[in-house]
Amino acid sequence: MKVAIIGAGVSGMACAFRLNQLGIKPALFERRPIIGDVVNLYGLHLKCFNLFSNNPLVLFEKKYGLRIKPMCPVKKLVMYSSDKKITVRGRLGYIFNRGPGKTSLERQLFEQIDAHIFMDTYIMDSLIDELSKEFDAVVVATGCTNIPKRLGVLKETSIMQVRSGIIDGSFETGQVLSWMKTEYSNNSFTYLIPASENRAVITIIADNITPAELDYRWKQMIITENITNNILETWEHEYHGGRLKTNQIGNIYFVGNAGGLIDDFMGFGIINGIASGILAADAIVLGTDYQKSIAAIQKHLDHIHCFKLLAEKAEKDTWKRLTQVIGLPGISNIIYKTSFLKFHHIGSLIGKFVK
Ligand SMILES: Cc1cc2nc3c(=O)[nH]c(=O)nc-3n(C[C@H](O)[C@H](O)[C@H](O)COP(=O)(O)OP(=O)(O)OC[C@H]3O[C@@H](n4cnc5c(N)ncnc54)[C@H](O)[C@@H]3O)c2cc1C
Repeated sequence: MKVAIIGAGVSGMACAFRLNQLGIKPALFERRPIIGDVVNLYGLHLKCFNLFSNNPLVLFEKKYGLRIKPMCPVKKLVMYSSDKKITVRGRLGYIFNRGPGKTSLERQLFEQIDAHIFMDTYIMDSLIDELSKEFDAVVVATGCTNIPKRLGVLKETSIMQVRSGIIDGSFETGQVLSWMKTEYSNNSFTYLIPASENRAVITIIADNITPAELDYRWKQMIITENITNNILETWEHEYHGGRLKTNQIGNIYFVGNAGGLIDDFMGFGIINGIASGILAADAIVLGTDYQKSIAAIQKHLDHIHCFKLLAEKAEKDTWKRLTQVIGLPGISNIIYKTSFLKFHHIGSLIGKFVK
């Protein structure tokens, strides 16, 4: 069986890994000359946003033998809203190393796969029809929604502008800071992830603004939060949130961000990317129904999307009250530390009122 994967990112390589287990060596096309983004990023996974009640890394290893080692656990989360500071401690999630480095998530995945790899090879959107004729299956794992848009299956919900910067200073590793301030992030977040004791990455995500406005928002954030550290390097991303009407068209499968499987509230997509890559491989080789397999992920994302709807539609006070309730010590401990109540459960309740 001939399978092509477009994009050697998180979801594409997870798909290749599972295909290998099922006896297939896919062709993997990657536009970059190296595996992983050129910049060092740090990806966050918080337990409270997890669909799987088990630890997803343990699940991936136990069920599929896929080994992923995070850079460190998240032990402390400090959240600032306009008038409140909430601190939660415990085993809250993980920080992943990303980018070109040896220990990055992408490099770890790459070490575990066997594929015919075509680096520095950009697959133009217009080639999709040709590829789908040449291969038995094509997996679109490009991290963006151009191809589903071209094929008319994208329902775009939002465009997020993201800027990250490396700053120097003194930081506590394993401690993540986040700010939820509508004045510069609209209905999204800013967060700081320490990379070491003297380096951190600060990222602002702002929805419904133009790229030009991002610079102004970034400066507003720096002033408001009194960030006096040296900013060593910055870079920008734009990503499009949205669901797909269908994640499979004939022998074409959409996984990860290209499949609309990123949450548009926090911008988390690593775990869904890995899971959808694996599930697409199962569908291709074992004949399982891909759309059905990812339905739970989509439902989970829809529930998280309800936070966004609430933030957009609610009066400022409603949003403030909600963040205050979530921030009550008892409630935040249940949400962040246990498996009983998670953000998508609350989102599901919110959805009944705001839709
Ligand atoms: C700044 C930033 C911070 C983030 N932080 C977090 C976080 O903290 N936690 C979290 O869970 N998620 C985070 N995300 C989201 C997360 O990175 C993605 O959800 C995840 O990487 C999805 O994987 P993917 O395989 O869909 O896409 P990617 O990992 O982006 O991989 C896509 C790959 O396809 C290649 N490619 C693209 N187009 C083509 C083409 N036409 N031909 C060939 N190759 C192509 C790209 O070069 C890339 O290697 C963040 C995203 C950004 C931008």
